[in-house]
Amino acid sequence: MEQKQFKAESKRLLDLMINSIYTHKEIFLRELISNASDAMDKLYYRALTENITGLSREDFSVRLSVDKDARTITIEDNGCGMTKEELENNLGTIARSGSLDFKGAAEKKDDIDIIGQFGVGFYSAFMIASKVTVYSKAYNSDQAWVWESEGADGYTIDTCDKTDHGTEIVLTVKEDTDEENYSEYLSDDRLQAIVRKYSDYIRYPIRMLVTRTVPKAGSEGETEEITAMETLNSMVPLWKKNRSEIKPEEYNQFYKEKFFDYEDPVRVIHSSTEGASTYNALLFIPSRPAYGYYTTEFQKGLQLYASGVMIMDKCADLLPDCFSFVRGLVDSQDLQLNISREMLQHDRQLKRIASRLEKKIRDELLSMLKNDREKYEQFFGNFGLQLKYGVYADFGMNKDKLQDLLLFRCTSNEKMVTLKEYVAAMKEDQPYIYYACGQNAAQIEKLPQTELLRDHGYEILCLTDDVDEFMMRTLMEYDGKEMRSVSSGDLGLSDEAAKKEELKKQDEANKEMFAAMVKALDGKVKQVRLSMRLKSHPACVTADGALSLDMEKVLNAMPNGQKVKAERVLELNGDHPVFEKLCVLQGSDPEKLGVYARVLYGQALLMAGLPLEDPAAFSADLCSLL
Ligand code: ADP
Repeated sequence: MEQKQFKAESKRLLDLMINSIYTHKEIFLRELISNASDAMDKLYYRALTENITGLSREDFSVRLSVDKDARTITIEDNGCGMTKEELENNLGTIARSGSLDFKGAAEKKDDIDIIGQFGVGFYSAFMIASKVTVYSKAYNSDQAWVWESEGADGYTIDTCDKTDHGTEIVLTVKEDTDEENYSEYLSDDRLQAIVRKYSDYIRYPIRMLVTRTVPKAGSEGETEEITAMETLNSMVPLWKKNRSEIKPEEYNQFYKEKFFDYEDPVRVIHSSTEGASTYNALLFIPSRPAYGYYTTEFQKGLQLYASGVMIMDKCADLLPDCFSFVRGLVDSQDLQLNISREMLQHDRQLKRIASRLEKKIRDELLSMLKNDREKYEQFFGNFGLQLKYGVYADFGMNKDKLQDLLLFRCTSNEKMVTLKEYVAAMKEDQPYIYYACGQNAAQIEKLPQTELLRDHGYEILCLTDDVDEFMMRTLMEYDGKEMRSVSSGDLGLSDEAAKKEELKKQDEANKEMFAAMVKALDGKVKQVRLSMRLKSHPACVTADGALSLDMEKVLNAMPNGQKVKAERVLELNGDHPVFEKLCVLQGSDPEKLGVYARVLYGQALLMAGLPLEDPAAFSADLCSLL
């Protein structure tokens, strides 16, 4: 017999279990049955894909039994079983996908909640058991092993006799205490009720020897006890059940257990289709992004079942990138069990299902937007970024599908608007949909270039995410209305044409002064010119050409991106007193004109939320004027 210690991480979780004050300790059974079911899935899947004969689906089951005198509960399965190494690795360490989340939460002291909603696997047995003994024999192995632990002092492992492959777990139930009645788990009725509550949809029979008192045949008034093996669960998976028969709590519980979340989903999409492709889908929109969602490590995908047997945990082809936050599963009888990943990618059925699901998800989101605005805004706060990337990705291939799902902050308005709402509220003479980029709505509102537009009473969409401007450029228009940046050369204002002519003349007249200023700015700007968009501010910076200043900022911040430079222009307000001063300096003090040019440029950068290239030089220029 070998004696071993648990790994440090496991130890922590174990201590939590052993000393748990969690009231719903009954979930231990759900966890153990779920492990048994997984083990049978694994073996059955192998049987099908490796053409192993003699293993048919009907032969798989979980068996429960209780020995009241010995205070034991036994849970037995005939799944894949475990080798010695597997016993040590699987039961001596925790390796569950959500363990990181769990730790985070445990530190916040809401471990109680986590245990109930999200489950903690095998170790939950220690909530009710003082000793756990696991007999296991891996399929095709000659040797069986017994693993045993009383929790705290590590575990032992030894050889044992076991005829059939699979795992048998014997729990020695703790003695009752003043606070806790552990003996209740030794009651047949109690165990049956727990199975029905949590494990009804397990697709293998969960059997138990049940003794019932029934009227004795042929003799009135007398009863007799009959003991028989009964199947406790209905075995119909949740997604195969009729929608009308499922309570919202059942969906929520299922989601949390299956996808290791501890919050209810915001939306459930349950759909069953027959015809060209036959499938059941059960999809969930999480209430917040999964751990690591916005990182490159995140893997999207839905669980894929072929006729009730899971064949893939994360089938990426079932979900478009823009909806990668959706969790759930698809079960189809049109798919072959032993289909390879490569084949699956080209499978026509799968493509058809994917495109149907995409439409379902979109419809669900649109309905949420329409009927539950508050929830939708919350959703958009979490996953809006993904939708925006979706608009921009693949050369805008999906923009039509996604544009109505977008929300924007507006200047002079606290609430978010859709493009549709923006267009509906546009002034009659407003030619374009205007947008401006910045850190937040408040900063955008103060941008010099937005002032004139706001004077006209035109709303401006505030773009605050890196991807936003790229997305707007991809959208180009909505409902026949073109998108225009507030920094663009042509804002389409009614008096613009006349003003333009006028500016052209003035630009010509001030040609020399502007050239001197460009020179003083030493390559920082391509041009200095008069502006049409300024009202109370003396200057602003904009960019000519396809690349805007904000796009420049985003592109240059990318890790391996090429460095790019927008064609900067310093625009001046001809009606501002500063401009008069410039004209005076042009004749009297060309040196000082240069200082003015640099200070104006610097403060315009700051207003636009862009960094100064040389703060020390800026400060020196400023001080020389003070
Ligand atoms: P999880 O099920 O989330 O992986 P657990 O702590 O419940 O975490 O189980 C750890 C691992 O032990 C499982 O992933 C599985 O490989 C193995 N295991 C547990 N129970 C069984 C069983 N009845 N048969 C075979 N393997 C099992």
